[in-house]
Formats: sequence, structure tokens, C-alpha cells
Amino acid sequence: MRVLVVEDDPALAVFVQKGLMLEGYDADRCGDGETALELAAELPPDLVVLDLGLPRRDGGEVLEVLRRDWPGSLILVLSGRADLQQRIRCLDLGADDYLVKPFSFHELTARCRALLRRRERHADPMLRCAGILLNRMERTVSYQEVALELTTKEFALLEFLMLRRGACCTRAELLQHVWHNSPEAGANVVDVYITYLRKKLSAAHQEGGLWSSPIETVRGLGYRLRDLHRLPRAESSVHEPAGEPPSVPGPSGVERSETAGLESGTADQREAGAEHHG
Ligand code: CA
Repeated sequence: MRVLVVEDDPALAVFVQKGLMLEGYDADRCGDGETALELAAELPPDLVVLDLGLPRRDGGEVLEVLRRDWPGSLILVLSGRADLQQRIRCLDLGADDYLVKPFSFHELTARCRALLRRRERHADPMLRCAGILLNRMERTVSYQEVALELTTKEFALLEFLMLRRGACCTRAELLQHVWHNSPEAGANVVDVYITYLRKKLSAAHQEGGLWSSPIETVRGLGYRLRDLHRLPRAESSVHEPAGEPPSVPGPSGVERSETAGLESGTADQREAGAEHHG
């Protein structure tokens, strides 16, 4: 499950992000409202933990846009604004929950779990694409009905490619969303893990018969999970498996804007309890 933490206090943002990652969530973070909306546009998160007092775009405004444009994302407001009117306003705008700072981290994760559980009762946890079946709740993967054993990073990488199936994922996007721009991740970590994934998919192919790795290289840009039902094949694609039907002519290379850097707005680092109303 992908969680986006929108918090302009860098120490608090890192604390919440790392804590959520330890709980097994794939957590991204950013420090201002504008970047939050850009990240959500790239890949709608399952859950947004949203501060209200934010630079560049107020949290209330972010909440309205998120709810309008990504109705499937859950929103938990985490704010120092404790007054009743503010809480009612946020819930009326579409927030799914509201937690007041200072807060207990255990309560935050309990509320996250409760929200996601509630949603999972109504949502299909399965991603299906190109013969791959990925269960986001049970964290299992199969390819052509052959079960795959993936590491945490391999799973997150494949999940991201599946969520964006048919579209090119740049190395920068993969570094951000899967490795969270960790300084420990080497420059070629994306390529290395793509190789791991392709090997595992190819091994399943040898067991299962007619299929090969559906991960295509988009030359000079990144990678794409082939989805014959969604997107015509781009001319720039390489890694063409043998025996495929001819490409359908169509628009090439879906270009995506590079994501703005994290923590791009940290001007407003007021203590949570000192946030102003409105
Ligand atoms: Ca704030």
C-alpha cells in the first residue's frame, strides 16, 4: 500500500515516513502542497497523511483537489489545528479521518490500518497485467500461474510498474517511488533490480511455457510494463520477446515530467501546535 506523507516539518515527516515503512507501507513524503499534488498526479496514493499548514498550497486546498481528482485515495488529516470547526470542515471536504498533533504514532498507524481495512472490504487488492497477478494485501505474485518469490524491493518495483502499466516509468520516478531517493541507492540500482525481475519472470516463463518477460526498456528513458490492452507499442521499445504479434502503430514514448525534489518547501516549519487557523 502506498502512503504519501505531506508534512513541512522535515523531522516529523521523516519520522512518520520511516515509521510507516517499518509498518510495511511504501511511504513517500513531500514538504509542500504543490509537490503533493504533483506526486498524486504521477501515481495516486492509497492513503495521504496530510498536514494543513503547508507552504506553496494550503492543506485544505490540497484536500479539496485530492478529493475531487483522486476520489479513490484515502485522506487522513494530521494537524495541530484542534478546533471543532476545522475538523468538521475537513471531514465535510472529504477527509476520511482527522488526527490532532501532538499524536501517538501507534494511534496514527492504527488509524491508517483501519482506513485501509475499510477500503479493502470494497476494493480488489489484485493487480493484473501481462499475465502477472499481484496481490497487494497478501504480497504475493504469480506470472502465468507460476508463483514468484520476490524481495521487498522487487515487489515494490513490480507493483509500481503494474500501477502504471502501459506507461513509461523513468529511472528518476522509480528511484523516487521505490527507493525514496535514498542516498544509499546506487546510480544503477534501478537497472540492477529490473535485471533481477526479468530473470525471475523468465524463469517462470521456462516453467510456464510460452511467455517471456513483459518488462520493456524505453530507450533513454526507463521501463514499461507491456500491456497490450492499454497502449500501442512504442517504436522506442527494445527487449522485444520472440513470437510477439507485430506492434500496433501509435504514439510513442509516453513522456512524463520529472518529479520535483522532495522537501522543496520547508519555509514553514512551525511547531504543529503553533499552526494558525484557516
Ligand atoms: Ca505545517
